[in-house]
Amino acid sequence: MRKTVYFIEGDGIGPEVWKAAQPVIDKAVELTYGSERSLEWKELLAGEKAYARTGTYLPQETLDTLASAELAIKGPLGTPVGKGFRSLNVTMRQTLDLYACIRPIKYFEGIESPVKHPERVNMVVFRENTEDVYAGIEYKAGTEEAKRLIAFLRDELGANVDEASSVGIKPMSEKGSKRLVRRSMDFALAQGCPSVTLVHKGNIMKFTEGGFREWGYELARDEYAGRAVTEADAAAGEKRLIVKDRIADAMFQEVLIRPEQYSVIATSNLNGDYISDALAAQVGGLGLAPGVNMSDSLAFFEATHGTAPTIAGKDMANPGSLTLCGAMLLEHIGWNEAGKRIHDAMNSVIGKRTVTVDLANQMQNATTVGCTEFGDLLGNSL
Ligand code: NAD
Repeated sequence: MRKTVYFIEGDGIGPEVWKAAQPVIDKAVELTYGSERSLEWKELLAGEKAYARTGTYLPQETLDTLASAELAIKGPLGTPVGKGFRSLNVTMRQTLDLYACIRPIKYFEGIESPVKHPERVNMVVFRENTEDVYAGIEYKAGTEEAKRLIAFLRDELGANVDEASSVGIKPMSEKGSKRLVRRSMDFALAQGCPSVTLVHKGNIMKFTEGGFREWGYELARDEYAGRAVTEADAAAGEKRLIVKDRIADAMFQEVLIRPEQYSVIATSNLNGDYISDALAAQVGGLGLAPGVNMSDSLAFFEATHGTAPTIAGKDMANPGSLTLCGAMLLEHIGWNEAGKRIHDAMNSVIGKRTVTVDLANQMQNATTVGCTEFGDLLGNSL
């Protein structure tokens, strides 16, 4: 079996981390399945490389190919300097309707963490990626748009809004919430995870965040009856998937105090942004974590760090995030053994404390290696 994966090298450290990560991913597949399975890589242009060759940062051909693709992976893309350029990442997320941002967060032995038991963290955050206060509907104080909106809110709806305010809109829909929660439930069931936790701020924002909670439970009842059960209805030793909810502020305490009680988290855009970074910090921060943005047809894996311009081209960057994206991709297509091989290799190399400088700075008695060598060590540990 041969699977096509489109790749975008990315800017800054992108090409070097890609060069280190790709052979590790291929080798993991080869060692696991011999010649029976392989990945066929096809390059797409975006960012500086695209600009140099085509005069545009995000060629239409790239977007068209991605629109009908199943699998893609990318390094970081810089935001072109100058007015009128939107972030390429945001453009791709919106154009391709990549509505679910998924980030697994777990601990690698040896890395210094600010908490006592980082190894108890093993969660996957599903963050809604298109709605909420991130929808971009926001008007600056004093502008004509802000004045008109405030006048409408005051005069037509009787809302008490200071006339000199900036204002933003927080749209959250049943469709947007349910498709995100559905994805998290399908993942939890496929991977045998014990629970899905709906994280929201519905005690205050009753119809948006509260709606997310309601729609999440409704979906669990309507579409997952028999396979999932709410926390309130769960029996002792429950074998079915447990669906529970937590208010966002309480959840930030819970993940510090009782992380072992949480597995899959499904949440709205802003909460998801905060909690995925907080959890990453809890296991030692850094750009080691992988991520994926998904639509109904495309799984688009991406390194969670940026282009790191100050170390670009110096063979210092950590290729871990992109390599783990590869492991996540393999698991996504059901090639779990190959994905596990990469995780085990990462554990082994980090455990031996031969790491890139960003990790070495966070560890006792570490030996610093370059990006290329770290990739080679991973490949040799598969
Ligand atoms: P950054 O992640 O590039 O850098 C933050 C810090 O982490 C720097 O000290 C950097 O050297 C270090 N770092 C990041 N990745 C590393 C790696 N793999 N190995 C070793 N050290 C690493 O964030 P930034 O400086 O805020 O952003 C730089 C550029 O990247 C901006 O143009 C921004 O728009 C872009 N960016 C892109 C993405 C993406 O494509 N997903 C994400 C974040 C930022």
